[in-house]
Amino acid sequence: MFSILQKYTDPLVHLFFPHYCVGCSTDVIAKTQWLCSRCVQSLPATNFLHTAQNPVEIPLAARMPIEAAAAAYYFTRKGILHNAIMQLKYHNYPEVGVYLGKLLGEQLLQSERFQQVDALVPLPLNAKKQALRGYNQAAKIVEGITAVWPKPILTEAVARRQFTKTQTKESRVNRWENMQAVFEIVDEAALTGKHILLVDDVITTGATIESCGHTILAVPNTKLSVAAVGYTSSH
Ligand SMILES: [Zn+2]
Repeated sequence: MFSILQKYTDPLVHLFFPHYCVGCSTDVIAKTQWLCSRCVQSLPATNFLHTAQNPVEIPLAARMPIEAAAAAYYFTRKGILHNAIMQLKYHNYPEVGVYLGKLLGEQLLQSERFQQVDALVPLPLNAKKQALRGYNQAAKIVEGITAVWPKPILTEAVARRQFTKTQTKESRVNRWENMQAVFEIVDEAALTGKHILLVDDVITTGATIESCGHTILAVPNTKLSVAAVGYTSSH
C-alpha cells in the first residue's frame, strides 16, 4: 500500500506538494519551504557573522591568514539543524542545502565583515563521494547563498583528490599533514587576485577548511574568508 508517509518522503513529490518540515518532521509546510516557521525561529543563531574573533574564526586565524570566518547556527546533536543537514547529506534532498544557503546568505548580506568577498568556492568533495551522493552539499548551500547575495561561484577552480588515508586513529597533527595534498588548484586564473569565500555545511575542527584554504592562499594575491551554516565544537 502506498502510505501517506511514503508519498511525502519521495524527494520528487516534495518538489510539487506540501511536505513535512525537515527539522521536526511533524508540521506540513509549503513546497517552497523546508523548515516550518517554528523550526526556523528556534534555530540556534550564533551571531558569529557580525563578530570578529568568534569561535570559528579564532582557531582558523591562528593557523592561516584569513579575513573573516563564521557559521550561522550552532549544530547540536539531534537538533533542528542536525536533522536538516542529515536530510541534505544522506537522504537525497539537495534543495535543503539551497534553503539553508539562503538563510546563511541573508546573514552574509547583512554582515559588514564579508562585503569584500569577490567569489564563492564550495568546499570540494572528492569525485567518488559526489557521484555517490549525486551532488556536493556545499555547492547547494552556495547556490542558496548567491540567490540572496549575488556573487560569482567558482565550482571548478579547486578539486579534491580521490584518495585520503583513513584518519580516525591518527593524531591531529598527522591528520593535518595528510590533508596537505588533498586539494589541488584546477583553474588558477579564476582565483588569482580574488578574495574567496570558502563555504562548507558544518565546521567542526576546521582541519579540512584549513587544508583547502592553504591551497587557495597559495594562488597569487588571494584573500580568504570562510562561512558555514553550522558550527560544532565536537561531533
Ligand atoms: Zn518544523
